[in-house]
Amino acid sequence: MPPLRASGPLHLYVHIPFCIHKCHYCDFNSHEREKPDWQAYQHGLLAELKYWAVTVPFANQHINSIFFGGGTPSLAPPSLIASVIRASGDLFHLDDDAEITLEANPGTVDAGNFEGYRQAGVNRLSIGVQSLNDTELGWLERIHNRRQAIAAYHAGRETGFDNINLDLMYGLPDQPLQAWFDSLQTAISLGPEHLSCYQLTVEPHTRLATSHASRPYPLPDDDLALSFFQQTRQQLQQAGYQAYEISNFSRPGRACRHNDGYWQYHDYIGIGAGAAGKCNTPDGGIIRYSNIRTPERYMATASAEACAINTRESLDSQKAAAEAGWLALRRTAGIERSLFRQRFHRDAWQYFSNQLDPWHKQGMLNVDDRGIRLTENGLPLADAIAASVL
Ligand code: SF4
Repeated sequence: MPPLRASGPLHLYVHIPFCIHKCHYCDFNSHEREKPDWQAYQHGLLAELKYWAVTVPFANQHINSIFFGGGTPSLAPPSLIASVIRASGDLFHLDDDAEITLEANPGTVDAGNFEGYRQAGVNRLSIGVQSLNDTELGWLERIHNRRQAIAAYHAGRETGFDNINLDLMYGLPDQPLQAWFDSLQTAISLGPEHLSCYQLTVEPHTRLATSHASRPYPLPDDDLALSFFQQTRQQLQQAGYQAYEISNFSRPGRACRHNDGYWQYHDYIGIGAGAAGKCNTPDGGIIRYSNIRTPERYMATASAEACAINTRESLDSQKAAAEAGWLALRRTAGIERSLFRQRFHRDAWQYFSNQLDPWHKQGMLNVDDRGIRLTENGLPLADAIAASVL
C-alpha cells in the first residue's frame, strides 16, 4: 500500500448489523438474530479501533463525527455505544463538538436505553419512521406502527435530544400522493431538525426484487414520481427546511455533518460487519476497504492485528475526481470549484465540461465562479446528470 494521508475532517462509521426482522425491501447488511453476542461484537469494534489508531493514515487524526448505523443500532446496549465513543476519544482526538448520531428503529425504543445513549455521548438521533400510515408500514414489513413512531420521537425529545432526524419513504405501490402528504405533514408537525425523504427503490437481491420480478408492483411512473419529488421539496421548503442534498432537508445549521462528509468526499473509517472506509492517497487517488459482512465471521476475525478487511480497492486520481464530482452534484452547493482545485489540482468545469455541457445547454446546470450546481429543472434528473461524470 502506498504512503497515505488523511485529509480534511475524518468521520467514523460504526455498523450494528442486527435486526429483529429483515424487511423485504432492505439491501443493507442486516441480519436477523434473536440474541446477538453483544460482548463479542463490542470486542470486534474495539479491536478495529485499536488497529486503525496505530495505522497510517488514520493514526492521531481528529474525528469530527461518529455515526452508529445499521441494521438496528437501537438494539445495542448503551454500554457498547459508550465503550466505542470512549475508545474513539482515547485512541484518536474526538472533537469537542463532534456530531454523534445513532439510528433508532421505533419498534425497539426503550426510554432507558435512550437515556443511556445520551449519557454515552450520542447527541443526534435518526429515527427510521419510513411512514406514518399503518397499512404502508405493514407492507414494508416494518416492526413498528404509527403510534410507536410518534412515541419514539417524543421519547427522544423527553430524553433531551435536541437534534433529531426522521427517515421517510415515498413512492410505495399504489400510494396516493395525499397518503404521502399525510405522513409528511405529520412528521413536519412533530418539529424534527432534519428529514430524509427517499423514493422506494427495488434493490437487486432483495425479497422485494424477487416478488416484483414475478408479479410487478404498481410503482409510480415517471410523472407521478416527479410529483412526489417536487411537492415534497415544496412542502418542506414552505415549512422552513433547507434542501442541502437531493433527499435531505434540515433546519439552518442542522445538516447531517457525517453524511455530508461522504458527499464531500471526506475520509472515513468504517468499523463493524460490512462497514467500509476510505482515505485519500498523495497522488490524488483513494484507497477504500470493506469488512467481512457476516456478523459471526466478523466477530471471529476482527482483531487489533488483523482487522476485519474483506476487500480493498484503489482508484487513481482521475477516477477519484469523477467519483467526487458525482457525489458533489447531489449537494445543493454542487461541485465547489475552489475545493475541487485544492483536492485535484485542476478546474472542475474544464475537467467535466465534455460530459456536463449538454446538460448545461439544456438549462439543467448552473455554472459560475463558485461551482457547478443543478438547477430546479435539473434536480429531478440528478441521478442521470451525476452519473454522466463517472
Ligand atoms: S429495520 Fe432497517 S436495516 Fe433492519 S431490515 Fe428493516 S430496513 Fe433493513
